[in-house]
Amino acid sequence: MLVIKVGGGEGNAVEPLLDELSHLWEQGERWILVHGGSARTNKISEQLGHPPEFITSPSGFTSRRTDKRTAKILAMVYTGEVNTSIVRELQQRGVNAVGLSGIDGGLFSGPRKKALIAQENGHRKVIRDDYTGKVSRVNVHLLETLLNAGFAPVISPPAISDEHDIINVDGDRASAALAGAIQAESLILLTGASGVLTDVNDMDSVISSIPEDKIGQVIEVFAEGRMRIKLLAAREALQSGVQRVYISASDVEQPVIHALNGGGTVIENVVSVDGVV
Ligand code: ADP
Repeated sequence: MLVIKVGGGEGNAVEPLLDELSHLWEQGERWILVHGGSARTNKISEQLGHPPEFITSPSGFTSRRTDKRTAKILAMVYTGEVNTSIVRELQQRGVNAVGLSGIDGGLFSGPRKKALIAQENGHRKVIRDDYTGKVSRVNVHLLETLLNAGFAPVISPPAISDEHDIINVDGDRASAALAGAIQAESLILLTGASGVLTDVNDMDSVISSIPEDKIGQVIEVFAEGRMRIKLLAAREALQSGVQRVYISASDVEQPVIHALNGGGTVIENVVSVDGVV
């Protein structure tokens, strides 16, 4: 079983993946697809007169400021637009795909963060009306039911909170929770970059392999912005029993095979040798 997450940021492509996934499905390979939608959400938010805002935590992690209106926009764009469009394209390729948000069947659920601390111009600000949270439960039964009946699940954030609010959850971390919950052997995070890079402006500077115990160091030294969260997600997946996490390009032919063949970065629980990273 493969769990694949395709990013929704700039520089991502989805068509090569959908072509490959339909071939894999036809050959009997089973997969679950999770997708993002951040660039599209930014655009629609602007058009709706509610421009996107981002907050940075004191430890340097950036996330979308999600007030109640933004949570509704997320559901509209991720679920209403991006998910439906991917499901349509898979149907066109002969795969009986079913689209689900994290809210359907309580697929992704967990606590809403009651307070966020944002670091702004050297000051700390507490935000209490944010609808962001964490996936602590995955409805594996629903996914198994669909897979056993021959349907291909296509999943998007947002998730549902313990108080039944729509909450923004990070797609990479949600995919990690999902991969752990179903005990997938591999989690493949396809993104706009060719892998984890030592120089974010040089797509050839891919780190081909990161041992689990070096993830923290790579986060500190090389990763910026959203890549930091992807690496956190990778660590969470490994800690929950996934064997290998791949971070690799979505805009190549056969992106899954490309990732599995070492075309990007592989992160795994191996004993590290000093100087490898
Ligand atoms: P997604 O593709 O899932 O939508 P993002 O585009 O938000 O994710 O995050 C991936 C981005 O992180 C890359 O496109 C790149 O701009 C940025 N990034 C920051 N540091 C690194 C790094 N060390 N290696 C690769 N990408 C990095």
